Amino acid sequence: MTNTYKAEVDLHVHSLASGHAYSTINEIAAEAASRGLRGIAMTDHGPAMPAAPHSYHFECLYMIPDYLSGVRILKGAETNIIAPGRVDLSDRLLAKMDLVLAGFHHDCGYGPSDRRANTSAVMELMENPSIHIICHPGNPEYPLDYEAVARQAAATGTALELNNSSFVTSRIGSADNCRLIARLCARFGGPVSLGSDAHIAQSVGHFGHVFEALSAAGVDPDQIINRSLEATLDFLGLTD
Ligand SMILES: [Zn+2]
Ligand SMILES: [Zn+2]
Repeated sequence: MTNTYKAEVDLHVHSLASGHAYSTINEIAAEAASRGLRGIAMTDHGPAMPAAPHSYHFECLYMIPDYLSGVRILKGAETNIIAPGRVDLSDRLLAKMDLVLAGFHHDCGYGPSDRRANTSAVMELMENPSIHIICHPGNPEYPLDYEAVARQAAATGTALELNNSSFVTSRIGSADNCRLIARLCARFGGPVSLGSDAHIAQSVGHFGHVFEALSAAGVDPDQIINRSLEATLDFLGLTD
């Protein structure tokens, strides 16, 4: 059953530019090619995170070729939610990028808040067509009304991410929330994005835990936006 699911593109990957990740884009692309991936999204952290790149980094992503080692390189960012409906890059820059993730992170300008405030911050962001994916929404440190967010995902066409690292090394305590989010995505039918959240080349394309969660929840494989390179490009409004 698990092998019903596939992901040809890894939509959440960090390079050296993030400040706490350890591979170059070339190294990541070569590893992705060796693992049979057809695309990767460069989603380095937005500038509000300590040691993350300046916004100039995101201005100049056009310098990266569209293909490295035969792998399509999608140029984006993992932005930090800093206020309701706001992230740490300008609307102009967001509109220039191939894809934009938005999520809650420590020490990035968004104070500790309650479930209701977190939920409204995310719901407002999902109205912004430049925000394609809400990353790691299962983080227990930023609780959400998961049902409301899953309904909003279906209504706005914003993808909710299932993040493989959330089951392994990051945001400990996320797993049950991620499984619940998968069930809600199955129920409401919104788009789902799969990401490894690799911070080193060897972790790119790791999806084992999210495949298990998708299978247990009964998510329709066609809900997975990165099931194929073509589906990914179609979701993002890009051409090959
Ligand atoms: Zn993150
Ligand atoms: Zn990340």
